[in-house]
Amino acid sequence: MVHAQGVRKHFGKLEVLKGIDLTVERGQVCCLLGPSGSGKSTFLRCINHLDRVDGGKLAVDGDLVGYRQNGSRLHELREKEVAARRRDIGMVFQRFNLFPHMTALDNVMEAPVNVCKTDKSQARDEARHLLERVGLGDRAGHYPAQLSGGQQQRVAIARALAMKPKLMLFDEPTSALDPELVGDVLDVMRRLAADGMTMVVVTHEIGFAREVGDTAVFMDDGVVVESGDPRQVLVEPRQERTRAFLSKVL
Ligand code: ADP
Ligand code: MG
Repeated sequence: MVHAQGVRKHFGKLEVLKGIDLTVERGQVCCLLGPSGSGKSTFLRCINHLDRVDGGKLAVDGDLVGYRQNGSRLHELREKEVAARRRDIGMVFQRFNLFPHMTALDNVMEAPVNVCKTDKSQARDEARHLLERVGLGDRAGHYPAQLSGGQQQRVAIARALAMKPKLMLFDEPTSALDPELVGDVLDVMRRLAADGMTMVVVTHEIGFAREVGDTAVFMDDGVVVESGDPRQVLVEPRQERTRAFLSKVL
């Protein structure tokens, strides 16, 4: 589903991704870990066309996102193509970014109705179903301000799922939550994974990564330091840098 080979990205003189190799198979969960500033968010943003790849090769479901090799011209998509591809990728951020003036239900219905031109009553039915799936069937009429952070984040997940994505990207989805609200969000993600969703999850929840992840990738300073089975990478890391990081977050 995601295939990265030597992916590079820089902002001015700052090299943020220095040749990332990473593969996520369909139906798998890849957990990305690493210190702040190591390039995790930038990598997710490249997958989702929010940042442009400067070098190497990046493909989602066989479609090239960016490609440049041996000084050849960058493979670039037209705006329309980018919009179409982005519809297939759901993204959940640390901050939930719900529309504050809309109820939970309207937040979930918004994109299907306005972007996909789905029939309103069908979109409403699907949105209700999704809210039930994230455990918020009884909160459909609530506004974001009336919901806890964890509930808002679950609405954000439902909203992303409403577009029927083939890939879900999570960027530290529980980092902004009070500790007692983290579990409900992780449970929703765990069920999503069990249902077969392909997911790339940036998280410092080591327990989640170990239980749910099919692979764990440890990044530092724009490179993949080590990757593999989470039960190895996160329990018996081979690299000193991974070990040092884990001892800080555990
Ligand atoms: P992480 O998510 O691992 O904390 P990021 O991908 O957010 O790391 O950032 C990696 C580096 O890229 C940081 O040094 C950050 O300051 C820099 N960076 C990210 N986005 C931009 C941008 N739009 N312009 C300039 N520098 C950026
Ligand atoms: Mg980040």
